[in-house]
Amino acid sequence: MSGEDRVIIIGGGPAGSTMGCYLSKAGVPNTIIESAVHPRPHVGESLVTSTTRMFDEIGFLPTMESEGFVKKFGAAWHPPQKTGTFGMEFREFPQPGVHQDHSYHVDRAKFDMLLLKHAEKLGSTVIQGTPVNEVRFDGDRAVGVAATVAGQKVNIPARAVIDASGRKTLLGRHLDLKEKDPVFDQFAVHAWFENVDKGEAADEDYIHIYFLPTKRGWAWQIPITETVTSIGVVAERSVFKEMGGSVEAWFESHLESAPDFARAMKNARRVNDFKREADYSYAMTRFVGNGWMLVGDAARFVDPIFSSGVSVAMSSAKFASQTLVEGLARGDISEAALTPYETKLRGGVNVWYEFISLYYRLLPLFTVFINSKKHRQGVLELLQGEVFDREDVPVLDAMRKYIETVEKSDSHVFKAYLDDVAA
Ligand code: FAD
Repeated sequence: MSGEDRVIIIGGGPAGSTMGCYLSKAGVPNTIIESAVHPRPHVGESLVTSTTRMFDEIGFLPTMESEGFVKKFGAAWHPPQKTGTFGMEFREFPQPGVHQDHSYHVDRAKFDMLLLKHAEKLGSTVIQGTPVNEVRFDGDRAVGVAATVAGQKVNIPARAVIDASGRKTLLGRHLDLKEKDPVFDQFAVHAWFENVDKGEAADEDYIHIYFLPTKRGWAWQIPITETVTSIGVVAERSVFKEMGGSVEAWFESHLESAPDFARAMKNARRVNDFKREADYSYAMTRFVGNGWMLVGDAARFVDPIFSSGVSVAMSSAKFASQTLVEGLARGDISEAALTPYETKLRGGVNVWYEFISLYYRLLPLFTVFINSKKHRQGVLELLQGEVFDREDVPVLDAMRKYIETVEKSDSHVFKAYLDDVAA
């Protein structure tokens, strides 16, 4: 088979590996070219339950069950000023195609390596330690990539090119498609700790989110093993700039800021270096073109408050592969033929984006809605990643209306909590 018969996938993270899996299952030869050699560290460790459906479809669920990842049965949130918690369990809202009551917390180094190996097992050719330098075009049609192999630049032809390069956004940057999010400019500092007080036995394996009393501030607590816990502090980047200190000082300045977070971290001991993430909310103006598609973070990234990233990465790969396989069968992988994928992905990610925007616009609203009999299921559906193919999302309409009422009233008890996010 000549190189031109292959689909080239740039990047072997969750989006690239999942794309490889679905294409191989459909009988489409593909090669994943990854710049790093796995295992490689990566932020993003807690998975929403919609990922489980895709693990099942690509035959990866037995690996998730047998590799000892911490099972995630739910989520808990803690208020900024007082102690206390409110939560959810995944079993409250059974999802179509999901036959278990838990998802997983993952060490991304191990998870990504296993998923890449799985793609290889299903038929992808995997080349690691090989950075792709550029996508090659004939006019405006993608015809392959140029990569550095053993120090030499090599041109590799392809039927189609999939950019799954994550926040490196290789093709988006090259084609100047990247638009920074107009509102969100978050900054995160994270590390792994031992001896975190994970709370009550019943919910110690939940993801815990602590609201912090600072602009768009929150902290995550994600169990990675029985003893190691990932802790990250997130806030508006301006908060970091104002402090003018080191990431360590910044992280530590938040430890005492909320009572439950202070309790969790009282005896915690850090076991690896702090890492920082910034500038991570953006969207590309296009996700497809003649012979190319963007999947996962290479297409769009929204704030990680609800752990949506890996779910969106895998979903985008699934939808992109469906559209591409149909296009290849018809002999048409023009921009027009690939656009249904873009429409579908934008629709779902826009739901996440609006949910996140409304959440930040009025933090107490989230508490009110998740504790409301009427709206709880609508909120859970979103939190479990059911955002695609939705004609309407009544819970978001209700949230918007609620916010309008608060905005119009001079005396509403939540008035002081309105943030400047445009909802
Ligand atoms: P990536 O995982 O980044 O994979 C891209 C791959 O491409 C990498 O392996 C990279 O080495 C490779 N690559 C890059 N450039 C090239 C090149 N030129 N040539 C070849 N290979 C290349 N998501 C969750 O689901 N849960 C969470 O709890 C969560 N927390 C987060 C917290 C923070 C602070 C941030 C910033 C993100 C978080 N995310 C979370 C999001 C998650 O990290 C991403 O959405 C997810 O990794 C996207 O997968 P991807 O495959 O698109 O990209």
